[in-house]
Amino acid sequence: MKYSTADMNAPTSPSVIAVPASDRGAANPSVSCVIPAHNEAQNLPRLLPALVDLLKSLAERWEIVIVDDGSRDRTLAAIEPWLGAPGVICLALSRNFGKEAALGAGLDHARGDVVVTMDADLQHPVEMIPQMLARWRAGMDMVYAVRADRKDEPPFKRVGARLFYSLLRVGSAIDIPPHAGDFRLMDRCVVDAICSLPERTRFMKGLYAWVGYRSEAIEFSAPPRTAGRSHFGAKTLFSLAASGITAFSNLPLRVASGVGSVLALLAFAYGVWVVVEHFFGGHNVAGWATIVAGMMFFSGVQLLFIGILGEYLGRVYEEVKQRPRYIVARALGHSPIDMRVPKSL
Ligand code: UDP
Ligand code: MG
Repeated sequence: MKYSTADMNAPTSPSVIAVPASDRGAANPSVSCVIPAHNEAQNLPRLLPALVDLLKSLAERWEIVIVDDGSRDRTLAAIEPWLGAPGVICLALSRNFGKEAALGAGLDHARGDVVVTMDADLQHPVEMIPQMLARWRAGMDMVYAVRADRKDEPPFKRVGARLFYSLLRVGSAIDIPPHAGDFRLMDRCVVDAICSLPERTRFMKGLYAWVGYRSEAIEFSAPPRTAGRSHFGAKTLFSLAASGITAFSNLPLRVASGVGSVLALLAFAYGVWVVVEHFFGGHNVAGWATIVAGMMFFSGVQLLFIGILGEYLGRVYEEVKQRPRYIVARALGHSPIDMRVPKSL
C-alpha cells in the first residue's frame, strides 16, 4: 500500500510516498543507501559486501546509490562488479564537486521510503543501520549518529570543530547538533524536504537541522579510516566552516556593525577631546604616534569587515549564477525500487 504525506508546500518538491509514523511498526519500507565516494577504490570492495548482506536481511527492496565524486583512482572499477545485479547503482559525476554536492546528487536520485547516508571509508559502521531503522519504526523521521568522542582526529580538527560549533550555537537561530555527521537515516519526507531546498552552496549538517522533523541522536565511536587519507584537510574544513557560518548565521555581520559603531563613538569622543585640548590646552603637536597607530588599527578593522562582507557577497554571487550543484556524467546499474508515483496522481 502506498501513502502520501501532508503537502510539502514546496513547488519543486518531488513526488512523495512515505509511510506515516503510525503505520511504521509493521511496515516493510524500501531502503536506499547513499554513499559519496572520492578515491575510495580500496574501501568500497570491503564496504559493499557487508552492506549488501545487511540490506538483504533488512528489506525486500533496497538500493545502494554510490556517487563517484570525480575519483581519479579505480573507484569506478571497484564498483563495476556490483552493477550487474539490481541494487547497486553508480552516479559518476563529471568532476569532483565536493562531498556536500555528491550527497545532494545521491539524495536527489534515491527512491527508498527511508534513505541512509554514509561514508565509503567504513568509518560509519553498517551494524548501526538496523538500530536506526528500529528508531524510524518507533516514529522518528531522522536518526543521526553522533560521535561520542573525536579522539581519533588530529588536534587541529578537534579544536576547530569545538570552535565552529560554539560559533554556530551563538550565531544561528537553528539548533545544529554538534558532532553529528552525515551518517543518518531519513524518512522520505525529510529527504524530499531537503531536495526541495533551492540553495546551491549547501552545508548539509545545517540543512538537516533546518528542515526539522522528529529527530533522534545515537552515539557511536567512529573507527579509523580503513584505507586512504581523509579528504578534509585544514583548508577544506576552513572553507566548509565559512560556508556553514555564512549560511546559518548573520552574527559576523552584526559583530561588524557593533564593533564599527563602538569604534566610531570612540573616534568621535577622541575628536571632541582633541578640539577641547586645542582651545584650552595650548598648541600641542605631539600625538603622531597615536594617529599612526589609530590609522593602522582602523584600516585593519575595516579590511577585516570588508572581508566578512565579501564572504556573504560571494555566497550571494554563487546563488545568483544558478549553476547546477553537480553534473552526472554517467548513471550505471539499475534499482529494484519502483519509480515513485507523482504526488498529483
Ligand atoms: N568525499 C566525496 N567527495 C569529496 C571528499 C570526500 O565524496 O570531495 C567522500 C569520501 O569518499 C567519503 C566521505 O566523503 O566517503 C567522507 O570523507 P572523509 O572520510 O575524507 O572525511 P572525514 O571522515 O575525514 O571527515
Ligand atoms: Mg572518513
